[in-house]
Amino acid sequence: MRTLPLVPTPVMRRLSARYIAGETLEEALAALERFRAEGFAGVLDVLGEDVADEAEARGVVDTYAAAAARMEAVGLDAYVSVKPTHLGLRLGEDLALELYRELCRRCQELGQFVRVEMEDHTTTDATLRIYAALRAEFEQVGVVLQSRLFRTPEDIAALPPSSQVRLVKGIYLEASSIAHTDPDPIREAFRTQAAQLLDAGHSVSFATHDEALGDGLLADCKRRGLGPERYEFQVLMGVQERLWSKWRDAGAKVRAYVPYGPQWRAYSTRRLRKNPQILGHVIRATLGLA
Ligand SMILES: Cc1cc2nc3c(=O)[nH]c(=O)nc-3n(C[C@H](O)[C@H](O)[C@H](O)COP(=O)(O)OP(=O)(O)OC[C@H]3O[C@@H](n4cnc5c(N)ncnc54)[C@H](O)[C@@H]3O)c2cc1C
Repeated sequence: MRTLPLVPTPVMRRLSARYIAGETLEEALAALERFRAEGFAGVLDVLGEDVADEAEARGVVDTYAAAAARMEAVGLDAYVSVKPTHLGLRLGEDLALELYRELCRRCQELGQFVRVEMEDHTTTDATLRIYAALRAEFEQVGVVLQSRLFRTPEDIAALPPSSQVRLVKGIYLEASSIAHTDPDPIREAFRTQAAQLLDAGHSVSFATHDEALGDGLLADCKRRGLGPERYEFQVLMGVQERLWSKWRDAGAKVRAYVPYGPQWRAYSTRRLRKNPQILGHVIRATLGLA
């Protein structure tokens, strides 16, 4: 794992092709088109976080707005999903809010939705404040909540009415003082929070590849008689495709998350760390054995 940064870029590029669409918007649109042909909607992510300065953050708004315009032009059922630190949250909450507002305004003109992603716990309060401010102005905006955090039930209780929430386990490994750290309690919290969100009338995107969890959530939504405007599944490009078809064939809407951009290497390293099987391929390829 520690030697991953030493893997030659062409090898990393080949192995990460499964998890990222490429470096350009054209490659990302091609992936979204491929998924559309198979009956999957899309989410578009421009790889990157923690911008260095305000100019870079403003450039990110333009990149996302251009991507949203292209998705709209080709009639894709897909929208943009943006990390707060990619819009400058670490430089200042006011800046991030201003830039999300600008992006939401440009996407609203296109009839496009914007997802505010969730990063580590140091950003949760600010992200939820930004989301609440945006939601007061825009219909087409949603947020992400992480089931591992102890605070999440209270955050759900404080959400603006009729929110659109992506529920995830949470990719950031948080301390045991503020978060569940074992798989079973994280999964159980996911179930409880999904029910809490649905009971309160919010729309929920279950972003998971946990088959037992997803199957149970699907059965619960069917029991409740809910349609695609109230729930859907979201999955990462390259991860557990068998489940995508299974849930689609069972009648659920499934949305594939397509990341792209020049900063693909850092993202791929994180994905590979999650999946040691793929790491085996990396090692074999690096040694010229693949
Ligand atoms: C569409 C989408 C958007 C997300 N947005 C956010 C966000 O804004 N903030 C946030 O904190 N987290 C986000 N996540 C990540 C999420 O929090 C989890 O870390 C991730 O989904 C893994 O959890 P799981 O529910 O799939 O279950 P797990 O139990 O971790 O995984 C179930 C199975 O899927 C496989 N798997 C899962 N993820 C990967 C992967 N990345 N690569 C290879 N194999 C994998 C596992 O090996 C396992 O077999 C997002 C996830 C998705 C699907």
